[in-house]
Amino acid sequence: MPLDTELLDSRFRTLAVHEGSEPSRSTGDIVPPIHIASTHVQDGVEALRGGYEYRRVSNPTRDAFASALAALEGGASGFAFPSGLSAEDTLLRALTRPGSHVSFGRDVYGGTFRLLRRVLRAEGVASTPLDLKDLRAVEDELASSRSTVLWVETPSNPLLEVVDIAALAEVAHAAGALLVVDNTFATPYLQRPLEFGADAVIHSTTKYIGGHSDVIGGAIVLAEGLGLPAGIDPWSETGLLADEIAFLQATVGAVESPRDAHLLHRGLKTLAVRMERHSASAQEIAEHLEGREDVLEVHYPGLAGHPGHDLAARQMRGFGGVLSFRVGDPSLARAIVESTGVFALAVSLGAVESLIEYPAVMTHGSKSGSEEAVPADLVRLAVGLEDVPVLIEDLDSAFARAKEAVRSR
Ligand SMILES: *Cc1c(COP(=O)(O)O)cnc(C)c1O
Repeated sequence: MPLDTELLDSRFRTLAVHEGSEPSRSTGDIVPPIHIASTHVQDGVEALRGGYEYRRVSNPTRDAFASALAALEGGASGFAFPSGLSAEDTLLRALTRPGSHVSFGRDVYGGTFRLLRRVLRAEGVASTPLDLKDLRAVEDELASSRSTVLWVETPSNPLLEVVDIAALAEVAHAAGALLVVDNTFATPYLQRPLEFGADAVIHSTTKYIGGHSDVIGGAIVLAEGLGLPAGIDPWSETGLLADEIAFLQATVGAVESPRDAHLLHRGLKTLAVRMERHSASAQEIAEHLEGREDVLEVHYPGLAGHPGHDLAARQMRGFGGVLSFRVGDPSLARAIVESTGVFALAVSLGAVESLIEYPAVMTHGSKSGSEEAVPADLVRLAVGLEDVPVLIEDLDSAFARAKEAVRSR
């Protein structure tokens, strides 16, 4: 069922502030207390209070956050995990068995690549990296491999490629596969994949949703009424994907702590204003870098010359806070990331602090030597919430210092 995008847009900020945050009836706390109990007192052997029994199975603080995120994504159910990768692992386990096949965008997150190519491969799940811009090739691959899952990241990391969620959903569904979109970079404020036909969204909530570099978390959000791909025996009684995830999460025990879930829920309330600022600042910095003669290419979907610009403008309502650029020389790229003062040299993204990194060795080192390796002269920026002129000045002087360093070697 297509969602009323305009309605959701007009209510996003209100939902973000209020969903799952009703004031306490007994005390009036405007923010719900953090529920830290590991177990819940019961009224009888089979009489749970509010449905709660044990924290691994469910917890009011975790559930409130997960349902608020699901509401913002336009999904029917949400689950909060202790990391993005544990969310991915759980979803992939629910959707595959030995002999299954997963197709994925070739520039997915490095950790996703490792999970698929090493851990799941050892469990008998095959996987194929694909160029998702070539829809015909995706169609052929899904048909020949009989994939149960098509795994997509848009905008992608670190090249900020944008792919067509609606078109990929059609191709996946025609082949009997589910479409999973990693929406970490965009967040539900900028892009809601379920509205374009995706079946499931995953997040590293560590990034923009937490937003302050002090939480690790992940989430799964599902569209309504999803079943399992053909040929997968369910663990739950209903065989609905939501029940499979709940079963697996309670069985394996990958659960977000209530204190972290509380911080993530708090992050949702400021997500809209943060994403507006991250996007506006990244746009200015991308335009500045594009104007520098020593920058060969700037990858940012907000730039008119970006190959995915028009698609991003249709599918997103802002272009996000991450960008990357090439400087033609690997040693210069390395020297630049070691020469900034305000931009901190660190992996990760999505928080108030601006970060800079060298993907070929840092975030994407696990792909080095493979066909999916990233260019060695690439620098990635995660633009934070500092003043843009300060950030631009920091980059410009880093370029100068880095050139000096490379020259004097
Ligand atoms: C960070 C990240 C992940 C992994 O999440 P963790 O919280 O670090 O486990 C997955 N996908 C994307 C796009 C990410 O940026």
